[in-house]
Amino acid sequence: MFKKILIANRGEIACRIIWACRELGIETVAIYSEADSDSLHVRFADDAVCIGPPPSGQSYLHIPAVISAAEIKNVDAIHPGYGFLAENAHFAEVCEACNIKFIGPTPAAIRTMGDKAQAKKAMKEAGLPLLPGSEGVVETIEDAIAIANNIGYPVIVKASAGGGGRGMRIVRNSSELSSAYQTARHEAGAAFNDPSVYIEKYLENPRHIEFQILGDTHGNVVHLGERECSIQRRHQKLIEEAPSALLNQEVRNRVGGLVAKACQEIGYVSAGTIELLFDNDCNFYFMEMNTRIQVEHPVTEMITGIDLVQAQIRIANGEPLGFSQEDVRFNGHSIECRINAEHPEKFTPSPGLITAFNLPGGPGVRIDTAAYLGYTVPPNYDSMVGKLIVHSSSRQMAIARMKRALDVMIIEGIKTTIPLHRRIMDSQDFISGNLSTRFMETFLAQQKAG
Ligand code: ADP
Repeated sequence: MFKKILIANRGEIACRIIWACRELGIETVAIYSEADSDSLHVRFADDAVCIGPPPSGQSYLHIPAVISAAEIKNVDAIHPGYGFLAENAHFAEVCEACNIKFIGPTPAAIRTMGDKAQAKKAMKEAGLPLLPGSEGVVETIEDAIAIANNIGYPVIVKASAGGGGRGMRIVRNSSELSSAYQTARHEAGAAFNDPSVYIEKYLENPRHIEFQILGDTHGNVVHLGERECSIQRRHQKLIEEAPSALLNQEVRNRVGGLVAKACQEIGYVSAGTIELLFDNDCNFYFMEMNTRIQVEHPVTEMITGIDLVQAQIRIANGEPLGFSQEDVRFNGHSIECRINAEHPEKFTPSPGLITAFNLPGGPGVRIDTAAYLGYTVPPNYDSMVGKLIVHSSSRQMAIARMKRALDVMIIEGIKTTIPLHRRIMDSQDFISGNLSTRFMETFLAQQKAG
């Protein structure tokens, strides 16, 4: 097994990886920017290296600084977490060239899946259904018009290199297409340094349901069921749960089996997520694949009892999975609320000093956070300060548990999404499982109307 792992990340996920390593008896090295010297990941790792000033381009994203830290500390492997360098194929290659194991899939898999147009092609060949749309990148506005006319409006123009909900434009009729195409290209060029876009059919009220998969270097691939991620704002997830109220065991086994087979076909190794859109009749379509550990991985851990971060580490170490699809059992229901440091109505970031702090506990409550009383949330990074996760016997009991946990969760001095989550837990649509990616839009409009 690895002796020492460098964690190329910060915040709650860096702590999460430290816990996984500690249980496996692996030493940890944290890296941090000058904005993060008071962070818990720095305090709790066995060793830590400051790698640069606050802007992530000069620290967490700066490959030479990360690799130098790894070499100075003589680590065997790097865990990238999510975000930052997690889906950077070049970084994975540099690790390999430096004889440091990258804990994740191969650079080739990261590259293919990082280009959404290419990913769709690969997954179609591997047997997953796609939404009608362009075959690959749309090079000209004339092509865009022809494709949109062919599939019918509404359509969505999406950045091939996209992520985080950026570079996406919904187009309801032909008069909007030209400007949407140009803006999406422009946004994609600015955000991802790649203006390529593709077009697909826009589904009006779909559910975002994703399947967790694990593949080892011996050709074994299993799926660990689905996560319902339809509660989103600006295409960003806010609440996730497992299992989805939409799927019964037959659909779960069928779709999960198809997804695992597709991943086996492309030789996928490590943890990965296949994101699908579902309509209410359980028709489903491949949307994209994420080649990293996800923010919402805990809900899957809660219902399967499988530690996904430890599984990633063991797989990177060359170990076989050690269990088969038949061994995977789903137990109860889990919900995760993302606690963001942001204004609950305006959704603008709210960094600053935490002046009062209380975390809920008790049966079935898990908190993944790097925040504490007296911690100052820096303005430089993602606004998520933690995740509140609950597990119980049924969806109804999980909601009750989440409500009682949120009631005693206190983070003051900054604004957070805690009050918003309390209101969502009381919403009739949420309680009845009546979800779609438009949920928040409707919910916020209803709240406004009082
Ligand atoms: P990103 O990588 O930027 O997060 P995704 O491809 O995962 O982008 O899409 C993010 C979200 O956008 C989805 O969860 C869904 O809510 C919405 N979306 C994307 N494609 C479509 C589509 N074809 N129809 C309806 N909604 C879509």
